[in-house]
Amino acid sequence: MKSFFKNVRSRLTLWYVLVFSLILVFYAAVSITFVYLYLMNNLDREMQEDYEIVEEYIVIGDDGSIAIDEKNDPYFHERWFEIWSPEGLLLYRNRPFTGRSLPPLQPDEESQKGFAFRSLRLTNGIRVRMMSGMINIEGNWLYIRLVSSEEKLWRELASFFWLLLIALPVAVLVAGLGGYLMAGKFLAPLDRMAEKARAIGTGNLTERLPVHNPQDEMGNLANAFNELLERIHTAFERLKQFTSDAAHELRTPLTAIRSIGEVGLQNHKSPERYREIIGSMLEENQRLTRLVDNLLFLSRADARSLDIKIEPIDLSAVIRQTVELIQPLAEEKEQRIETKGESLYARADKALLKQALLNLLDNAIKYSPPGSVIRVHLLGGENNTACIRVSDQGTGIAPPHLERIFERFYRVDKGRSREKGGSGLGLAIARWAMEMQEGNITVESEIGKGTTFVIRLQRK
Ligand code: ADP
Repeated sequence: MKSFFKNVRSRLTLWYVLVFSLILVFYAAVSITFVYLYLMNNLDREMQEDYEIVEEYIVIGDDGSIAIDEKNDPYFHERWFEIWSPEGLLLYRNRPFTGRSLPPLQPDEESQKGFAFRSLRLTNGIRVRMMSGMINIEGNWLYIRLVSSEEKLWRELASFFWLLLIALPVAVLVAGLGGYLMAGKFLAPLDRMAEKARAIGTGNLTERLPVHNPQDEMGNLANAFNELLERIHTAFERLKQFTSDAAHELRTPLTAIRSIGEVGLQNHKSPERYREIIGSMLEENQRLTRLVDNLLFLSRADARSLDIKIEPIDLSAVIRQTVELIQPLAEEKEQRIETKGESLYARADKALLKQALLNLLDNAIKYSPPGSVIRVHLLGGENNTACIRVSDQGTGIAPPHLERIFERFYRVDKGRSREKGGSGLGLAIARWAMEMQEGNITVESEIGKGTTFVIRLQRK
């Protein structure tokens, strides 16, 4: 039983039945009250008509005695009435219900003006309605009391009550059954959605939940779930791609190390040759370490487990320190790094900004000819931003590649990039780092002339 009320369908039905029953009971109570008032009103009206008839046929004798001119009243014997003097003396009584007596007259209650109605129960349990009124006949004030049985009224009321009492549970039962069926019909899409959701796994992430009516709540839920599935699917595909790219990237230096080792093991070589072989192996190892470092950085970035602290920092100081760090690489290629610009502060994380700048400068050095100039320009931009422009005089990047170079592992010329020690992760890291600092990074390039990367940050 307990589990029956655990499901929404039963609970909905139960609530529905409860509310419906309350409304019905209220409605029944109001109806009974109205019927009672209506019947009582009718009875009172009938009594008033009788009163007027009785009034007309009262005759006062010369000795002051009261008589009724009953010849003119065909229903005389059916009427029960009394005539009293204002002093409380019973002057006349017509009693069709023998043996049943009324209480004595109470002039205070049985009003002096207009009519007074009163319901009372006789000693034998019969309920009657009593109407009293005062008339003046030939200068004599008289009280007329008319009595009518209420039994018919109560019988009719009881029939009506029993009718309601039988109809009420039937109506509740029918409504409950209807409610249960309706709730089942409305909730059925939920069951179908749950069944479908259970069947979706990593193998069929492209499947979606059925949406019967996108406008209703169920449709809205199914749509929201489908959107979530879409996001999971995209993330899953990206992860799959990333894992396969990473494995591929790792395999290249590992294969290289093995081949170099195998060559080293073949017949005896001079110590210089061995030194050369070990040097090559270390170079590959360095490449591998760099790649693993980058992969680790990205995986921590994806897991949001990097400690990022955004605060106002002096951009020219960060540029100076980064340039100092990378200067030896530029010198190796006889390149010059020129820095210029105003002193600006912006909101950023120092380590992340340095990492992004390092990656841009490393690329500028790698993809520019020896002896060329690399310029780092710091200036204020629109909307209270600070811009760092890193321009080189290198090969440039063709327009179709411009947007894609920020993707993980994307390289314009795979062979050349690898030769220069690249793995296709530098710009992906730089873009991610900028986004984490509420900044962005864009690129402008012209083939043969050079490339400019622009970093934008919010000034403090
Ligand atoms: P990589 O490790 O290969 O340099 P990046 O993500 O840093 O990877 O860069 C992606 C690709 O964008 C590079 O392979 C290269 O083709 C191109 N690229 C990046 N910077 C420059 C640049 N300054 N000049 C020319 N091409 C560039």
